[in-house]
Amino acid sequence: MRVLSVASECVPLVKTGGLADVAGALPGALAPQGVAMRTLIPGYPAVMAALKRAGARAVLAEADLFGGPGRVLAARAGGLDLLVLEAPHLFDREGSIYLGPDGRDWPDNAERFAALCWVAARIAGEGLDDGWRPDLLHCHDWQAGFAPTYLRARYPGAGVGTVITIHNVAFQGLVPAGKLSALRLPPGGMTPDGFEFWGQISALKAAIVDADRITTVSPTYAGELLRPEFGMGMEGILRRRQADLVGILNGVDLDAWSPPYRTPAGKSRFRKRLIAEMGLGGDAPGPLCVVVSRLTGQKGIDVLVDALPRLLDEGGQLALLGSGDPALEARLRELAARHAGVAVRIGYDEALARLMIEGGDAILVPSRFEPCGLTQLYGLRYGTIPVVGYTGGLVDTVIPATPAGLRAGVATGIQVHPVSADALSRAFDQLVRLYRSPDIWRAMQRNAMRHPVGWDRSAAEYAALYRAIAPDAG
Ligand code: ADP
Repeated sequence: MRVLSVASECVPLVKTGGLADVAGALPGALAPQGVAMRTLIPGYPAVMAALKRAGARAVLAEADLFGGPGRVLAARAGGLDLLVLEAPHLFDREGSIYLGPDGRDWPDNAERFAALCWVAARIAGEGLDDGWRPDLLHCHDWQAGFAPTYLRARYPGAGVGTVITIHNVAFQGLVPAGKLSALRLPPGGMTPDGFEFWGQISALKAAIVDADRITTVSPTYAGELLRPEFGMGMEGILRRRQADLVGILNGVDLDAWSPPYRTPAGKSRFRKRLIAEMGLGGDAPGPLCVVVSRLTGQKGIDVLVDALPRLLDEGGQLALLGSGDPALEARLRELAARHAGVAVRIGYDEALARLMIEGGDAILVPSRFEPCGLTQLYGLRYGTIPVVGYTGGLVDTVIPATPAGLRAGVATGIQVHPVSADALSRAFDQLVRLYRSPDIWRAMQRNAMRHPVGWDRSAAEYAALYRAIAPDAG
């Protein structure tokens, strides 16, 4: 079974969030299932640099890719079988992969990612110059959203199955209607049953309408997506395609995320290192809580700020790493300046993220919505107790320390419901109580570290889905 995975970011080459972790882990996870996956990503400068070292060869050329030529280069890099779309007029830019220097989306994001989709459809429809052609196209998020639409329009009867995975329905790839013909989209799609979304074009909706199957990254989020509170306007079209929608939980790459200790006791070395790194005090009596997150409304960081006094009053500490909303960043910096028990690092830092998860006692993920969430999974694996909002994948992965959960000896964390300052303050009370009961705390840490967070089960689910769509592919 040959699968072309199409994504706008992919570990270890380029990452802004969980999508990259998943796109980078899938090929390795699916190989034992008999799936040979190649991954198509844009040729951003960091990707092109990695490719030069790997010795790439050209496997497809496009003369006119929305304003300039492009070609696809093939190489093995970062442990992946990569196809990279080299198109300097679209991707050879310094800075963030999605945002210009002014902090806004690049004005030609629609063309940039439409180009990725255009090429993906051509590879599926015609194959590469060396004859390789996928049995199935697996598209991730709106950036890959037009690929099934182009495939249907340009290569009807190509016999290549399509899957769209929704990693976050909040990102919908909205494009002004006036770009319809410039993006070479079929005009017939500009209807409420097609990719039209309240007068605009939505790349995500295009895939929801045109892909054979729709997946999202946890079973609970798959259900939430059908409701107006979470569907963000896509609930109607998703309800219509409910029979083809399934939630498959994300996993963790167990080799990339492997604790440098076998038991929770091994954490203390890293806790000390983290305290020193962040300039916190070493003798606080309460738990050291960590946050590694984009700083946006989704992640409930404002709620955390409101509830934080309770944690600090009870002797807890907070170490936070993140970046995003400038107003939130400013509020957090101010908190850190005022409280000795709060340390904040604004930025993106993979080594520090890892140290936080290694050295923290608890990891806070008070999201208002969370399609899957990865940091709570890292927390489980490292015995760093997750305190999470009761939503999406957080529901599916954390076993709450309710009286029943504790009695049965299965609890791995705390769930906060609803995500409000009151409820989170109560969760901090409970966290501190548990932390001060060393036997219970250690048992929870051990449960967490034993909780299966790898890809095995989900990889089998993806492989079964692929085979259901492309039964003749082997
Ligand atoms: P999302 O994709 O919504 O941002 P996830 O929990 O699915 O949330 O994935 C976030 C990923 O990005 C995790 O691997 C997390 O460790 C990483 N991450 C988030 N913020 C930072 C940061 N400031 N520095 C380093 N890694 C970060």
